[in-house]
Amino acid sequence: SVEFRDVNKRYGDHQVLNDINLTITPGEVVAILGPSGSGKSTLIRLINQLENLSGGEILVDNKPTGRLSGNGLRQLRSRVGFVFQQFNLYAHLTASQNITLALEHVHGWKPRPAQERALTLLENVGMLEKAHHFPAELSGGQQQRVAIARALASSPQIILFDEPTSALDPEMIGEVLLVMKALAHSGITMIVVTHEMQFAREIADRIVFIDGGQILETAPPEQFFRQPSHPRAQRFLQKVL
Ligand code: ATP
Ligand code: MG
Repeated sequence: SVEFRDVNKRYGDHQVLNDINLTITPGEVVAILGPSGSGKSTLIRLINQLENLSGGEILVDNKPTGRLSGNGLRQLRSRVGFVFQQFNLYAHLTASQNITLALEHVHGWKPRPAQERALTLLENVGMLEKAHHFPAELSGGQQQRVAIARALASSPQIILFDEPTSALDPEMIGEVLLVMKALAHSGITMIVVTHEMQFAREIADRIVFIDGGQILETAPPEQFFRQPSHPRAQRFLQKVL
């Protein structure tokens, strides 16, 4: 589970998130929707401390995370996977090396089992054949599938996605969404910032709509897309649908 308690985030005197309270239960799939600049990325980046809180607290599996470093931060990030818009693969490492790197050097795996684990993960996202290719030799969709496999390497219970298909050519989006859809049914807790409304509607258990750094509405997708109750959510949907 992930629980936000009165979470605030400021950059200087710019208040970016305002008193966020939100509980995401184990196995839940939540889509975060909202206009550009509303605070969506900041919200999920706070969870695994890619950003620091200005106020309040975040609990992961009922434990307050506090401000972590070293081992504590490594542990948090092995429980919470993150997939970036721009894939962020290491260009000088092959697909499988991108996965074994952290397994060996962060989690202390031996090379052989790490390699086997990497190949299994790549197989699960349909990328086994490209295991020994470098990122530059892969399409955007393929790179993103490797990035998803990498995020799953430490068997996280929670995975966060920040617009995982926004940097992709249209014809690559489907293959990544397919992998995410399978993942959503696997029982992992999933928080997805996305502009793919159809996808959110299909896979999310709950929609969280944020604007101006505040949660304005949370609702099951059917309800949110049929009849959003907040006027700003209505306006947002009119624009994007
Ligand atoms: P988008 O849909 O465009 O990705 P978003 O909802 O993810 O937008 P955030 O990236 O969370 O929005 O940004 C929220 C606000 O915080 C914006 O006004 C942004 O300019 C500001 N912001 C984000 N990161 C920083 C930073 N490192 N320093 C200062 N301001 C920042
Ligand atoms: Mg963003």
